[in-house]
Amino acid sequence: MTTRFAPAPTGYLHLGHVANALYVWTDARERGGRVLLRIEDHDRARCRPEFEDALLEDLAWLGFEADEPAVRQSARHTIYQRVADDLHARGLLYACTCTRRLVRGSRVQGPGSEEVRYPGTCRNASHAPGDGVGWRVRLPHDAITFDDRWCGPQVQVPARQCGDLLIRDRLGNWTYQFVATVDDHLQAITDVIRGRDLLDSTGRQILLGRLIGRPAPAIFAHHPLIMKSASQKLSKSDGDTGIRDLRAAGWSRERVLEEAAKLSGFSL
Ligand code: GLU
Ligand code: ZN
Repeated sequence: MTTRFAPAPTGYLHLGHVANALYVWTDARERGGRVLLRIEDHDRARCRPEFEDALLEDLAWLGFEADEPAVRQSARHTIYQRVADDLHARGLLYACTCTRRLVRGSRVQGPGSEEVRYPGTCRNASHAPGDGVGWRVRLPHDAITFDDRWCGPQVQVPARQCGDLLIRDRLGNWTYQFVATVDDHLQAITDVIRGRDLLDSTGRQILLGRLIGRPAPAIFAHHPLIMKSASQKLSKSDGDTGIRDLRAAGWSRERVLEEAAKLSGFSL
């Protein structure tokens, strides 16, 4: 069993991360598995080295230790490029010149759905995927079924939820969906343990994984999120729950872990 903890250094470590780390490390330790630490710094505009340093320092203070040296997505450009080249060679990639605003105009209608579906505008255009344009993968219209260890049986149709997946944006940043899928495959991650906010991303990651040659998908477990109020998800900008601030306010390691466990329904 190999799982991973995959924070994006776009802010300080918060209680939501700690809850996720508890689920990840506890499951791995109970099953004799390994935890890989993956720094998801694929978005060059939003990631900052000082957040990464702080993140590593807070994790060490909390006692979460990975079983191998951390892997940085920013150092894996050549790998992602090779996977993209292969998709392109198989006719699965196309250039998208749509602006973000244009794509946002085509929201999927549905109760509470914030999902934006790309309508396929550029599918048949003749631009080559290069600099200054987005790169998208043609998704087949498959229904993906999987049995989530926390949420039970799921059916998702990525072509209907999000449409053809953006793997690289017009600025040249690889997207989260792409690099997470590539790395979960190449790092041979057997178990993806993460918060419930990513449940909807799973079908598209399984489908993309299939397209890049992953023989069988990982097992997924989407645990409850920490809630600030009934419906508001924590974000990294909530300074009041940043581990840095709790430490500065004199919280002990045990108290931070207990708080994260309590707020996410994790039993220590
Ligand atoms: N980097 C993602 C985040 O910070 C985690 C993605 C994942 O676990 O698949 O939310
Ligand atoms: Zn387009």
